[in-house]
Amino acid sequence: MDTTKQITIVGAGPAGLTASIILSKFGYNVNLYEQNNNVGLRFNGDFQGLENWSDKEDTLDILKNLGVRINFLCQPYFGNDGFFYGPNLKKIKVKTSRPLFYLIERGSNENSLDRGLLKQAEESGVNILWGQKLDAVKDGPAIVGTGPKAADAIAKGMVFKTSHKNIFIGFLDNKIAPKAYAYLLVNNGKATFATCLFEDFKNEGLYYKRALNRLDSVLTIDKIEPKEFGGFVNFFNEPKYSKSDRILYVGENAGFQDALWGFGIKYAVLSGYYAAQSIIYKQDYKELCEKHLGPKLKTSLANRFLFAHFTNYGYSFILSKLEKYDDVIPPLRKHYNQTNTKRIFYEISKRRYKSRLIDKQCLHKNCDCVWCRHGKTAHGEFAVN
Ligand SMILES: Cc1cc2nc3c(=O)[nH]c(=O)nc-3n(C[C@H](O)[C@H](O)[C@H](O)COP(=O)(O)OP(=O)(O)OC[C@H]3O[C@@H](n4cnc5c(N)ncnc54)[C@H](O)[C@@H]3O)c2cc1C
Repeated sequence: MDTTKQITIVGAGPAGLTASIILSKFGYNVNLYEQNNNVGLRFNGDFQGLENWSDKEDTLDILKNLGVRINFLCQPYFGNDGFFYGPNLKKIKVKTSRPLFYLIERGSNENSLDRGLLKQAEESGVNILWGQKLDAVKDGPAIVGTGPKAADAIAKGMVFKTSHKNIFIGFLDNKIAPKAYAYLLVNNGKATFATCLFEDFKNEGLYYKRALNRLDSVLTIDKIEPKEFGGFVNFFNEPKYSKSDRILYVGENAGFQDALWGFGIKYAVLSGYYAAQSIIYKQDYKELCEKHLGPKLKTSLANRFLFAHFTNYGYSFILSKLEKYDDVIPPLRKHYNQTNTKRIFYEISKRRYKSRLIDKQCLHKNCDCVWCRHGKTAHGEFAVN
């Protein structure tokens, strides 16, 4: 066996799986360690969105060009497939020339993104070591994609069955989703509803209750067999690319996350791809990421800082503006461009988000809220033995 072509990958999420698929296709012997006995156990069969507004190229074309097949549920949702509601409860419909996002499922169900990527990894010959939690690697090269290690933003929601037709709804209102948003996604008899919080985690239950009331006030929807879930994401003010030359960090574990709204899947897949490319073509991983992911990542932090300063009045203003465009994709994309103003805000926000977002208000004792379960865990360092 050619030992120079032996790679250890830790974590079978979108980042680790993408890196595995690409390296394996290029003839590398990939050992992929996953702490659980299946993929996607961080998730709950909930629907998420592959955003399609921040790049000129369509997201599905980006994935296909990387060599990732679309063998999972991936349903396009255009602007006119749903609505947005601001705090004033005005129903806003936006127009798009292409899908606003692709609805995907997360978890271990047959059609999930996680299972689709797993199938591609198996087909390309990746050796998957299930139930193996790896906290250190003896010999590099290795790629670590172990997901978030702390909660900078949390989500509380439910998945349920419903007879309602396919629809999406986005809600902006600090009373139900502080500095974030709540969302409903319905697809072929299944639905996900959740509210996201970038602050005041200890009142997660209160916001969730209010968000559900808000949903019920704008839509009649049956909720069959509801199952609650909680989740969290983390982002860094600057990504952590590697530890020595031997260990590359990918996905959310490296801090590749959309700091504005938590749309991290595309970053996870792309960083997995660039890690694989850097090994195959002996390129500098940090350089590749800084060139291809850096500008958007930095702007997303600047956008987070700006968004966090919006009041409810600001949300209503933004939505009423978006409603007027013939196509909201170009103006949305414009906000991800690295302009001089965004560069200045990035420098400010880098300082603001220097330390982890710690919810000092959380005084819960013996509590099982999303924050208590995850937020207090410091970001884990991956060791080289
Ligand atoms: C509720 C919720 C909704 C979201 N919605 C969206 C959305 O709509 N759009 C979007 O783009 N993003 C969304 N995100 C974010 C997105 O899910 C993540 O950014 C993405 O999954 C990150 O992928 P990853 O591969 O880095 O990590 P993960 O998907 O977390 O995968 C990490 C894997 O590593 C394994 N692992 C961890 N530690 C070890 C270890 N020591 N040894 C072995 N294995 C280990 C884990 O078990 C897991 O399988 C959402 C997140 C949440 C919580």
